Amino acid sequence: MPIIEVEKLEAFYGDMQALFGIDFALGETECLALVGANGAGKSTTLRCLTGLIRKLRGDIRYDGSSTLKLTAESLARAGIAMVPEGRMLFASLTVEENLTMGTLTRRKGPWSLERVYGLFPILKERRNQMATTLSGGQQQMVAIGRALMSNPRVMLCDEISLGLAPVVVGQIYDSFGTIRQEGTALVVVEQDINRALSVADRVMCLLKGKITLEGRSREIDMDRLTAAYFGE
Ligand code: ATP
Repeated sequence: MPIIEVEKLEAFYGDMQALFGIDFALGETECLALVGANGAGKSTTLRCLTGLIRKLRGDIRYDGSSTLKLTAESLARAGIAMVPEGRMLFASLTVEENLTMGTLTRRKGPWSLERVYGLFPILKERRNQMATTLSGGQQQMVAIGRALMSNPRVMLCDEISLGLAPVVVGQIYDSFGTIRQEGTALVVVEQDINRALSVADRVMCLLKGKITLEGRSREIDMDRLTAAYFGE
């Protein structure tokens, strides 16, 4: 059974409709990439999954049960973690204190401070530094580590490679293998189509709140994906 099923999802900001009938499923430990131009609805899709958008139609099921009546906090406690765009670290806290914030919604599972430091050794060296003194890539590692500290079953990552050096982006995406092995499924929003195809099992392309193409990364036709991205 998929861990998440989204059915005919429509989302609204006030009277403004941002999603128009989105359908997809996410398998256990699968990695799905959402691609699409600015304003396509990628972040909105993630926010719907975390319970941050309340004006919805259609359904979202997690482990077979509808999440629409659940609060963002109870969804976090149930194992849905967000790595938000811009990282949203606590500026007045150290690296280790930021990581520890992830335990507020902690479930049982494999992740601990030591495991996170094993995944990103640089964070152990910097554990007592203020998080905001780190480089952008290291801060992104803190944001991922904080999400892992809750032992999520699903981790949603919004544009984690934005503005980072390619080497660091490589290190971060390399960590996904371990994260998935430990039982977490991933949804990643990624502007770069080639990177999306290389990290994800499946890619879903959005345009103006609708899915324009969906398929397995290995099988997807690049010309069709480019056309779906730009709406040609
Ligand atoms: P981006 O790469 O720009 O983040 P995106 O694909 O993530 O793009 P969304 O942020 O989901 O796109 O935006 C989808 C639509 O919803 C856009 O038309 C956007 O202007 C609108 N929108 C997003 N956030 C809000 C908000 N807080 N209030 C009103 N409209 C919003």
